[in-house]
Amino acid sequence: MSIVLFVIIHWYLGLLIQSVFLHRYAAHKNFEMSPLCEKIFYFFTFLILGSSYMSAYAFGTMHRIHHAYADKELDPHSPIKSPGYFGTLLQARHSYFNIFIGKTKVDSFMSNGVPAWHSFDKFAHSWITRSIWVLFYIFLYINLATSWWLFLFLPITVGMGALQGALINWWAHTYGYRNFNTNDNSKNLIALDLLFLGESYHNNHHKHPWKLNHAYKWYEFDLGYHFIRFLGALRIVRIKKRALF
Ligand SMILES: [Zn+2]
Ligand SMILES: [Zn+2]
Repeated sequence: MSIVLFVIIHWYLGLLIQSVFLHRYAAHKNFEMSPLCEKIFYFFTFLILGSSYMSAYAFGTMHRIHHAYADKELDPHSPIKSPGYFGTLLQARHSYFNIFIGKTKVDSFMSNGVPAWHSFDKFAHSWITRSIWVLFYIFLYINLATSWWLFLFLPITVGMGALQGALINWWAHTYGYRNFNTNDNSKNLIALDLLFLGESYHNNHHKHPWKLNHAYKWYEFDLGYHFIRFLGALRIVRIKKRALF
């Protein structure tokens, strides 16, 4: 059953890198880090997301556009425009690639300060690199899977980054509870978020995108926030004052 353990660890590491680096750092700049540390995070993003690697520049820019136009015509991904989980996923993928290849012209205030390492992105994004990752995952499954049905997890491993992103973007704009009356359909998925490391408090986050802590009520717990505070205590990152209030 060691493949199940691998899938669980891989899932949480994927969420961690997506939440900490791509979302709260690249898109929102809730905290700062040195250029060297940023490059190390790029490398971890590559190692963890592997075949589903996402560019911090394209992700961060697309996410800022999402906040600016959430559930409106210009939203790059909204269940209102493309219903259902897979509808949201395909729309997000389309918007992401158009930003990545430069087809979508982005206003400078949407991309200002979003980290950009285009040569690394080009390497990690290439189909050759992605294919090598897929072959590696197949090799891993052949060696670790003790039963045929465990191979059903393989598509999750291969597409994890996009699958997780779409899960939040669809679910948290469709189902859940609201603490705030925002101009969009954002919702908090679950009261105790141990599945998404704090990313599921989406309504709280849409109301206060500059806040590092996505939890608001006493029973909400944002593990991603506490992890970043830990990195701050180790002086690996520097949390901006405005992100704490
Ligand atoms: Zn949203
Ligand atoms: Zn956000």
